[in-house]
Amino acid sequence: MNDHLIYMDYPATTPCDERVFDKMAPYFCELYGNPHSWHSMGWASMHAVEVANKQIADYLCVDPSDVIFTSGATESNVLALRGMIPPKSPKESHLITTAIEHPSILEGCRQLHPQVITTILPVSNEGIVDLDELSRSITDDTYLVSVIAVNNETGVIQPLEQIGAICKERGVHFHTDATQALGKIPIELEKWNVSLASFSAHKVYGPKGVGAIYVRKGTPLRPLQVGGGQQRGIRGGTIPVPLCVGSGEACRILADEGASEFARISELSERLVTGLMLSIPYAQVNGGTSSKVPHIVNMGFPYVEGESIMMGLGSDVCVSTGSACSSDRLTPSHVLQAMHVNEYFLQSSIRFGIGRFTTVADIDHVICRVAAEVQRLRDMSPLWEMFNNGVDMNKIKWERRSSLRRDRPAA
Ligand SMILES: *Cc1c(COP(=O)(O)O)cnc(C)c1O
Repeated sequence: MNDHLIYMDYPATTPCDERVFDKMAPYFCELYGNPHSWHSMGWASMHAVEVANKQIADYLCVDPSDVIFTSGATESNVLALRGMIPPKSPKESHLITTAIEHPSILEGCRQLHPQVITTILPVSNEGIVDLDELSRSITDDTYLVSVIAVNNETGVIQPLEQIGAICKERGVHFHTDATQALGKIPIELEKWNVSLASFSAHKVYGPKGVGAIYVRKGTPLRPLQVGGGQQRGIRGGTIPVPLCVGSGEACRILADEGASEFARISELSERLVTGLMLSIPYAQVNGGTSSKVPHIVNMGFPYVEGESIMMGLGSDVCVSTGSACSSDRLTPSHVLQAMHVNEYFLQSSIRFGIGRFTTVADIDHVICRVAAEVQRLRDMSPLWEMFNNGVDMNKIKWERRSSLRRDRPAA
C-alpha cells in the first residue's frame, strides 16, 4: 500500500525544484542589494538578474532584452490584452480569442468591454481552434489575436504556426499564453510569428509569483505598471531578484533535462491512460485524437461525478476536476463545454497531471484507486443502472447529486 501523498495536480502548480530553491536562497538575506542601485551590492544583484534573463532567453531562443519579468502569467496575459490597445483608436478596437483560454484572458477581455469588442472563437470537439473562423473574424479594427498554446485542462496543442501565418498575412499581432507549453513542447516563437507570449515559473518547478512576457522588438506594447523605468519601461518596479534567479535556474534545468523528462513522462502518461481504459468500462480521453502534451490527461468516467471521485480518493491523491481556478465551483469546465463533451463525460471528468516527481508506483496506485472509486460510485448510481438496463441516456437529463442520490443507500 502506498501511504505517501500522490501529487497529480502539476498543471495547477509544481513543487519548486530543490536546485531552484538552493540557487534562490542567497538572494534573500545575503545578496539583497537593489538591482537598480549604483553600488557593488546593486551590481551583484543586477548581474544575477542578467544571468537569469539570459538563461530564460536562451531556452526560448530569443534576445534577452525581449524577455520582461512579471509577477506571473496572469499579469503577462492582462498586460498583453490591455497594453496593446491603440491609445487613440479612431474606431472600436477588436480582439480575438478562443473559448478555451485561461480565466485571466477570458476575464481580461470581459473587463475591456465595451472599449474593446471581443470575438471568442469556437473549438472543434477535439479542442482545436477553428482556423476558418479566425480568418473570417479578423477586421480592420482587430489589434490582437490571443490563443492559448497548450490548454491547461486537456493538454491539447493548438496549430500555432498556422495561426501565426494567418495573423502575419492579415497584419495582426499574435499573443499566445504559452504557460503550459514551456517545458512541454519546443517553444518556437519565431516560427509561430508571435509578438507576445506569456510564461510562469511555478508551472515549471520554479517559484510562485514570477513569470515573464516575451515582447518582440517593435511590438507597440504600453506599460500597465509605470515606475522607475525598469525593464525597458515596460514593467516598472524593483525586479524581484530571488524569483528571477529561480526562474532562470528552472529554465536551465529544462534545457538540460527536458528531453529525457519528456520521454519518461510520455511513458507514464501512456501507462495511466491504458490502465484506466482497461480497468474502467466506457472511460474516455477528452480531446482524444488531437495532438496533446503527455503531461496532462483529462478523462471522463460516465455516470458518476468528478467531484465524488475526487472526494473518494481522499486527501492522499491530488487531482482536479477542472483548472484550479474553477474547481471550487461546481460548474462544469468551460473548456470541456466548448468542446461539446457529452454531459455524462463532462460531469465525470478528472484532470491528471504527470510531472517531474511522478513515479510508476504513483501511476499504478492511482489507476487502482480511481478504478475502485468509479466502480463503487457506479454501484450506487441510478444513471449507471439505467444505462445498464438499456435506457437511451440521451433522453435522460443530467441532474446534480442531491436529487439523484437521496434515496440511494450509502455504501
Ligand atoms: C497557471 C496558468 C496561468 C496563470 O499563471 P500564474 O503565474 O499563476 O498567474 C495562465 N495561463 C495558463 C495556461 C496557466 O496554466
